Amino acid sequence: MSSFSSPPAPLQFVNCLLPSPPASTTPSQPPSLAAPSLAALSLFVDSSSGLILDSRTAFYGNPPSTPVDCGGDILAPGFVDIQLNGAFGVDFSAPSLSLADVAACSARLLSTGVTSYCPTLVSLSPPVYAKVLPVFSSYLSSPPPSAAAAAAVLGVHAEGPFFNPSMRGAHEPSNIVPPSPPTPATFSSVYGAPIDRSPIVLTTLAPEQPGALPFIELLTDNRIKVSLGHSAADYETGVAAVGAGATLLTHLYNQMTPFHHRKPGLIALLASPAPPNYSIIADGVHVAPAAVRCAWEMSRKMVLVTDAMAAMGLGDGAHKLGTMDVTKEGGRAVLTGTETLAGSVASMELCVRKMKEFTGCGAAEAIWAATGQPASVLGLEDRGNLRAGSRADLVLLDKDTLEVKKTYLGGRLVWERDK
Ligand SMILES: [Zn+2]
Repeated sequence: MSSFSSPPAPLQFVNCLLPSPPASTTPSQPPSLAAPSLAALSLFVDSSSGLILDSRTAFYGNPPSTPVDCGGDILAPGFVDIQLNGAFGVDFSAPSLSLADVAACSARLLSTGVTSYCPTLVSLSPPVYAKVLPVFSSYLSSPPPSAAAAAAVLGVHAEGPFFNPSMRGAHEPSNIVPPSPPTPATFSSVYGAPIDRSPIVLTTLAPEQPGALPFIELLTDNRIKVSLGHSAADYETGVAAVGAGATLLTHLYNQMTPFHHRKPGLIALLASPAPPNYSIIADGVHVAPAAVRCAWEMSRKMVLVTDAMAAMGLGDGAHKLGTMDVTKEGGRAVLTGTETLAGSVASMELCVRKMKEFTGCGAAEAIWAATGQPASVLGLEDRGNLRAGSRADLVLLDKDTLEVKKTYLGGRLVWERDK
């Protein structure tokens, strides 16, 4: 064998429908012009780097490519879930969380089409943050070998503890604190690590709390994205928070002041001159279908999140969310003995299908809300899209039902539904 062996042949995914990104996300642009769409095209992948190739140059390249037949189905970017509290029996907020737990959950998420995600923590006490957050720091700095065939951890979403206590939902009341004084010392005393050495990449906070606006500036100056939620803020405070750097609303409608025509609250930011993205739990349990559709008609900047907890992927019965007891029954999870929803038990695959059903949007638009939109919230351009140079983390979706059939990481098949 020659020592000058040629590079491995690129993979050419053929016989597939590819979702293209929207031509523009300008709200004023007619949806028919702005919407993502599906096109029958090939996708080329460099099998050694795992990156998507420019199809114009790869098509004429040498060596000839190796075809991968997609059977006429939709080949989409892998889903990106920026709010996942746990799944498959793993609770990311558990004080006993281990590296093996993170690895196991990350691997099993591939079956739901998720190839990257933000493990999300409910509001915890400083001693529990000090136990849990270092697990993610270790996982990110020295991933276990199994991480090569698992959904990528993008960093932690700290949902809390800087909430409005009246909007805490299923979060433990004694853990809720104000972000004051708005200093790096407050950050490290709560989360147990300096602001520039924390695995946190996204926080959800209530902008009306004392110190919140300068705290948003502090976080964004340190490359931590800020989402507004668990909040009773009025519209004006919401506008000020977006001006301070917040770029997202967390689970629109849930734990947020309802829309009122004289006091419209955070929901009206969707139609403001500088609209943020907004996440929504489109499982049909947390938000009524008509309300999902209203949000979609106000703004196309929808980000699908599962907000799933440990019971996702498991059977009905008793489960845990942080230190709180939760009961799962069918498609709902509530704090035991109450009607308070405690995270969802929905998969991203289900949310994509429900969004399409509830809003009447096209498949490519629903896929975009689970891929390109969440990636852009985190400022990531190397995933959530099918551009040359992006990671070939892909899902093959049934063109009619949008069910996940296969999941690829770097162009390599890592999960396949039983036939
Ligand atoms: Zn929440």
